[in-house]
Amino acid sequence: MAYDKSIAAFEEAYSVIPGGVDSPVRAFSGVEGTPPFIEKGEGAYIYDIDGNRYIDYVQSWGPLIFGHCDADIETSVIDAVKRGLSFGAPTTVETELAQEIVTLFESIDKVRFVSSGTEAVMSAIRLARGVTGRDNILKFTGCYHGHSDSLLVQAGSGLATFGTPSSPGVPADLTKHTLLATYNDIESVEKCFADSPEGIACVIIEPIAGNMGLVPAEEEFLQQLRALCTEHGTLLIFDEVMSGFRASLKGAQGITTVKPDMVTLGKVIGAGMPVGAFGANAEIMGHLSPEGPVYQAGTLSGNPVAMAAGLTSLRKLKTDPTVYVDLGNKAKRLVDGLKKAADSVNVPMVTDVRGSMFGFFFSDKPVKNFADAMENDQKLFAKFHKGMLDRGVYLACSSFETGFISTAITDEMIDETIKAAYEVLKEITN
Ligand code: PMP
Repeated sequence: MAYDKSIAAFEEAYSVIPGGVDSPVRAFSGVEGTPPFIEKGEGAYIYDIDGNRYIDYVQSWGPLIFGHCDADIETSVIDAVKRGLSFGAPTTVETELAQEIVTLFESIDKVRFVSSGTEAVMSAIRLARGVTGRDNILKFTGCYHGHSDSLLVQAGSGLATFGTPSSPGVPADLTKHTLLATYNDIESVEKCFADSPEGIACVIIEPIAGNMGLVPAEEEFLQQLRALCTEHGTLLIFDEVMSGFRASLKGAQGITTVKPDMVTLGKVIGAGMPVGAFGANAEIMGHLSPEGPVYQAGTLSGNPVAMAAGLTSLRKLKTDPTVYVDLGNKAKRLVDGLKKAADSVNVPMVTDVRGSMFGFFFSDKPVKNFADAMENDQKLFAKFHKGMLDRGVYLACSSFETGFISTAITDEMIDETIKAAYEVLKEITN
């Protein structure tokens, strides 16, 4: 495949945009080659400016459950655009989308819309601190919750230690209240509680982690976490920015019996438009401005075009109960095929699927937390990624990301992908 135009476009972008990209992962830093610059999407495919076509397993990092340019979503967006792009005033479509969300999630009576996952989580954390009157929060190593200051905390400082910033520009004073625990390890959480006599406002977790590869939390672990939070008067936040409407219609909450106190949602509810949201019961949400004293705001929050896209997508998902079964079967078909391809060249691989989310690691042992994920063969992944790209398969450009199936992806496309995987793995292990 030729990438000449993308290579030139990347160089040009580099001169005016840091790293040539507006979000670091897009730069292909962990894999080989130049990121293709995308010209358009169509159903299951994306096309780059060199005219190469790829089966898209990234789906804009999750939102596009119905693939690119879904006709219904497109129509609702165009209709909304014609009525005006933004008003900064209430619109009924916000209430409609909020109603759909609160009827789906038992844990949510009220929801507030924002414009990104980062904003949703940042606001939820502020609300949790405001409600409990406590400063400390607890997150898990390897979980990503957006790039707000108090959540941008480095891993690796051991169990239950206070966090240190993982980026210059984040004052240590802002992250000293962020405690780190190990995913799927309840003892590490217990230690954090024991070390915090002043209390912990909230525990935030990706109940199905998608930012260290796909690593689901174990049911028993979530139950123990719930019990600890209840015991300590700590709010449990499920960050479902990625898993919401992806793992199932109710996200992780359609899979686990554990109920969080607060939920953050994101990209998937916007169907590709910038949206985020956070919700909880009416009592907790009553602390939010203007009902209560915890301030949070946004000029473009609840943007009518984004709301229209989200509403159409969500209603489509609700009315067709076969969607998730179909997506799940396809995800399974894909990872089973990838595993067989890896077996054929004696390369160890572990795989997982949750609804339309799929993950695979070049690793010989189960991956339960970030330390396990770090042991995957990243060099092999980089070669695999390049080989697949060259064969028209667009996979997430890091072994710490999750893959997504859209309804536009067919069994034939998956079989084509698996065939490519056999070829690539044979080539790169020779
Ligand atoms: N939380 C989770 C679980 C995420 O996966 C992400 C983004 N991948 C975010 C928060 C941040 O969302 P955004 O990139 O829209 O700010």
